[in-house]
Amino acid sequence: MSLKKNATMYREVVESQTLLINTQSKLMESQNRDVIKFGFGQSPFLPPKSVIEALRASAHEKAYTSVQGDAVLRERISRFHKEHNGLSVQPENILIASGSKTLLYSILLAFKKADVLIPQPAWVSYAPQAKLTGHHIIKLPTTFESRWRVTAEIIHRAVSQKKHDTTIMIFNYPGNPDGLTYSGEELQSIAEAVGEHNILVISDEIYGLLDHRDRHLSFANYYPQKTITTTGLSKWCGAGGWRLGVALLYDDIPAPFKKVLIGIGSETYSCAPTPVQMAAGEAYRNYESIKPYLARQRSILSSLGQYCYRQLNRANIRLHPPQGGFYLFPDFSLHQEKLRSAGITHSAELCQRILQDTGVALLPASAFGFDDHLLAARLAYVDFEEPGEEVSFDIATHAPKVVTGIRRICEWVEDL
Ligand code: PMP
Ligand code: GLU
Repeated sequence: MSLKKNATMYREVVESQTLLINTQSKLMESQNRDVIKFGFGQSPFLPPKSVIEALRASAHEKAYTSVQGDAVLRERISRFHKEHNGLSVQPENILIASGSKTLLYSILLAFKKADVLIPQPAWVSYAPQAKLTGHHIIKLPTTFESRWRVTAEIIHRAVSQKKHDTTIMIFNYPGNPDGLTYSGEELQSIAEAVGEHNILVISDEIYGLLDHRDRHLSFANYYPQKTITTTGLSKWCGAGGWRLGVALLYDDIPAPFKKVLIGIGSETYSCAPTPVQMAAGEAYRNYESIKPYLARQRSILSSLGQYCYRQLNRANIRLHPPQGGFYLFPDFSLHQEKLRSAGITHSAELCQRILQDTGVALLPASAFGFDDHLLAARLAYVDFEEPGEEVSFDIATHAPKVVTGIRRICEWVEDL
């Protein structure tokens, strides 16, 4: 066989399910097929006008910045997070890159061999990244009954499977795919457990500013000794395609670790696009002035999330009321018998059939770390357009596709 055709010479990685469902849904739309896009988790909101204007005005900023990112932007991010919830990070401990996904990858790549603890469920890209960077993955299994929460006990149990000296835990809330968050007591107890095992925590708080009640607590305030927080413009600022991510390191980060992170950045992305960094400078300029913009998103996402939760719950689809971000993780297992009779025993089959029969795109539980038998899926309630801040948001008028999509899922289940 020719070397080029021998697949074993390549790394094992396929296109991320999130980006794949986005391409598929768009293709269906371009073929005039009736599709409701609950598959891809992209913010439906536009960035604030002043931020769009700042991007426009920065097109001529063509020079590279430092690898770490523009100094003024890092100062503003430091102040912004302090004002938001008391998170204290020095500007010199901030890294900017083209998306927090890139930063997550750099952090994992910085270590030669580590055990990486990943909650189940968790966002689609953590496990492929840990695999690409050669680490040993340990799942943190959670249950519907415990609201998919990681606990100290789960962590203590997981570390018995350790193979290496370094342990990293990837933690994420408000959660993708579950839409849930943690209380201060829960975070305290998790902090004690990770402290006991000297675990480095990557706290993915990209949905932190979209906590529906504006009560987001940062893990670094509970475990300041070894938490890297990741965030960025993709969710709260509606700018996923601009690709701007932020990593907030910690005060006592070992100098060689930080050097390696900057080294990886310098040998891969060089710096985040300069005009986008300038626009981010506007987004992070003043937390007070961005508050009304955030409050509107939270109020829309909260009422829409509660609406979807109530409707699905009424159709006997199990799920928890959302607390942040824009995801739900409906579990269809109460309909297991009927689904089995219809030939559906896997989450991937479940999503394929729902798409085929109703035009609603979801992502299967298997994409979030479960074995295929859990009959659950992720639903991103984002298929709507924000009507403009002057208009008061009405679900039926401004999110008709969300209403239709939820109704179709409920009817599909009832008609099984
Ligand atoms: N973490 C989670 C939980 C996400 O949902 C996403 C998707 N945007 C990311 C990280 C990556 O975000 P970014 O656009 O900053 O790369
Ligand atoms: N985070 C989004 C999601 O989970 C999509 C973007 C991405 O995966 O990079 O759907």
